Amino acid sequence: MDFTWTPEQEALRAEAREVASDAVRRHGRANDSWINGWSREFAQELGERGWIGLTWPRDFGGQARPAIDRLIIGEELIKAGAPIGAMWFADRQMGPTLMTYGRPDQQAEFLPDILAGRSVWCIGMSEPNAGSDLASLKTMAVRDGDDWVINGQKIWTSFGEVADYCYLICRTSTEGPPHAGISEIIVPMDTPGIEVRPIKDMTTNRHFCEVFYTDVRVPVANLVGTEGGAFKQTMRQLEHERGGIDRLVSNYALYCIARDRADTSDPRVRAEIARLETKYRIGRILVIREVLRQAPSGFSAATKCFCTEHEWDVAQFVARTLGAEATIWNDVTQGLAYAPGYTIMGGTSNVMRNILGERVLGLPR
Ligand SMILES: Cc1cc2nc3c(=O)[nH]c(=O)nc-3n(C[C@H](O)[C@H](O)[C@H](O)COP(=O)(O)OP(=O)(O)OC[C@H]3O[C@@H](n4cnc5c(N)ncnc54)[C@H](O)[C@@H]3O)c2cc1C
Repeated sequence: MDFTWTPEQEALRAEAREVASDAVRRHGRANDSWINGWSREFAQELGERGWIGLTWPRDFGGQARPAIDRLIIGEELIKAGAPIGAMWFADRQMGPTLMTYGRPDQQAEFLPDILAGRSVWCIGMSEPNAGSDLASLKTMAVRDGDDWVINGQKIWTSFGEVADYCYLICRTSTEGPPHAGISEIIVPMDTPGIEVRPIKDMTTNRHFCEVFYTDVRVPVANLVGTEGGAFKQTMRQLEHERGGIDRLVSNYALYCIARDRADTSDPRVRAEIARLETKYRIGRILVIREVLRQAPSGFSAATKCFCTEHEWDVAQFVARTLGAEATIWNDVTQGLAYAPGYTIMGGTSNVMRNILGERVLGLPR
């Protein structure tokens, strides 16, 4: 495939690059900045520019711009390490989910603040015994009058400590097969009964958290979509999560640092750089196909797998290039220590391969 960008797209890229480098100057560079880069201020600036909800229909307050524009902006912001964590989940997932499954009153209540970069969302899916096997989740919401009463525990909830809302995936029934009886409920994080315990990971980051729910009451109206029928909704949400540019360029800044320092007089190093550059191009084409909705249904699992395994490869290259220096603690080595997360978050590579085999290729289980 050979393609060129239009002059308007090139101009947008240049603008995004400028915005990104200004943000990095003011806030510092984050590795994997859509999950580790945090600034409410910058999220609101992006909202003012109309860069949140860029592709959403105008009826929902969006800009109705082509999906490729969002890819261009996202690519430049993440490659530079600009702190977009405070808006990314809501822009990528919660907004599209609410537009598809939410009621008009929910859309009116939640979308404007998302668009303005004013509300921060976390995603409460994983539990200590339900990660890949999401259908085995146990956090329970029981109806009591006009409220849901929620009890249970989530883990790895990124931004649990700072979010305004949790998009909670929980069980509202234990009847039938495991994937039945799962619902999605919006939970304001200041509701009494929520206890958040941040987990400090080995990179010293503490974005993900354990979140305990004890008799947490939220209005029945906070249910999104079909009661007990959310498994399909959640799978759709994961499609939004898996096929984007955020899965390819999270550690691109580290790659540039290493590439500039690599000993290119060594043909093995040149071959390695050529291999990584090739994989960047392949990954980008896979992502573009997802963004343009030209990929087969479910294929985002393969895209996520390829792209995040490439990010892991990049980390290995950076480590080899730095040599002994990779053992000194700084922002580069912090990025290296973080690298195992790429192929885990959003669904592990093993699970992505299962999806590809079973759902896309139709192979026997
Ligand atoms: C940086 C980071 C941020 C995260 N943020 C969030 C968040 O905001 N919200 C949230 O809800 N979760 C979040 N997660 C959790 C993430 O979604 C889970 O870690 C992931 O789904 C895997 O689940 P698990 O950790 O329970 O591992 P498990 O499911 O226990 O898997 C353990 C191992 O078994 C393998 N395995 C499991 N099942 C199969 C199978 N059927 N076939 C083959 N192999 C299998 C896996 O590949 C893995 O190697 C985050 C994780 C990371 C690393």
